[in-house]
Amino acid sequence: MFVLGHVGIAAGAVHFLDRKADLRWIPLAALLPDVVDKPIWFFLPGFANGWTRSAAHSVTGLGIFAVLALWALRERAWGPIFAYASHLLLDRMWWDATILFWPFEGFFLPRFPFDHVELWWQKLTDPWTMGGEAAGALLLAVLAVRGRMWDPGCRRVFRATGRLA
Ligand SMILES: [Zn+2]
Repeated sequence: MFVLGHVGIAAGAVHFLDRKADLRWIPLAALLPDVVDKPIWFFLPGFANGWTRSAAHSVTGLGIFAVLALWALRERAWGPIFAYASHLLLDRMWWDATILFWPFEGFFLPRFPFDHVELWWQKLTDPWTMGGEAAGALLLAVLAVRGRMWDPGCRRVFRATGRLA
């Protein structure tokens, strides 16, 4: 899944569950597993072992994020925690159980067996990935209309509270 899918689906779901939820942290939380793991792949190739998903794409990463979010945001933490968890779901991490349950099946991840370029081409024709992108884009458009984001006053309320007016 790419940016629109993660951000749009997470923000749409959080807003659907609680119309007064603060949506400002949702995009970052929804993308955080990639924001953390892509640099790990680049800077610590011996650990990531050839794949751009590692520690932050695990239930351990989710647990650490949940503790930090609860500490920082208290009762408002559920939205970002939900957004982070949705990233693992949309990435279908159950297919990569050694990563999902890291480090319980070994601290160092097994060598990733597939070619990155080939995987990118696969993603572009994968209905799950591209359907998710379309759904995410549509949800972002619906949120922008619901929040009347063309109105400067509504944008000001959103910036100050994270709520769609
Ligand atoms: Zn990811």
